[in-house]
Amino acid sequence: MSLKCLFGHQWEGCVCSRCQAKRDEGHDWDGCKCRRCSKERDEGHDWDGCVCKHCGKRHDYIFLNEESDESHKKYRCRRCGHMVVEELVECGPCYGEGEILYFASESGMGGGCGQTCYQCGGSGKIWETHEVLPETENQKLNDKE
Ligand SMILES: [Zn+2]
Ligand SMILES: [Zn+2]
Ligand SMILES: [Zn+2]
Ligand SMILES: [Zn+2]
Ligand SMILES: [Zn+2]
Repeated sequence: MSLKCLFGHQWEGCVCSRCQAKRDEGHDWDGCKCRRCSKERDEGHDWDGCVCKHCGKRHDYIFLNEESDESHKKYRCRRCGHMVVEELVECGPCYGEGEILYFASESGMGGGCGQTCYQCGGSGKIWETHEVLPETENQKLNDKE
């Protein structure tokens, strides 16, 4: 605190007009952000799809336990209802083996030397995230049958 405000700040909303100190009241909200101190709050967002244009916050997703299994994790947006699916897929660089073979000689002879895959860390699988829009969601379900 500066000496100027030793006996109390000169508050203008949330910011002191003398020393620029900030307090958590009297904000001048423009949607989710304060015009004066640029503090963010969790309301008044300006949603563009699932992401706020102002602060980049995403909607809340609920984990859909019943629709998920060991290789699929499904989440639904609380507000727009669209789904995000995390799918366990075969890792590309190691072809699902978890190890990448490096051959000692260029001809490929002489045996390979396995190294733990840099992408999946040896599991052979990685999680891939897809956003599913409401229209295609039904199609996907139908395709399965
Ligand atoms: Zn002050
Ligand atoms: Zn403020
Ligand atoms: Zn926002
Ligand atoms: Zn959403
Ligand atoms: Zn891998």
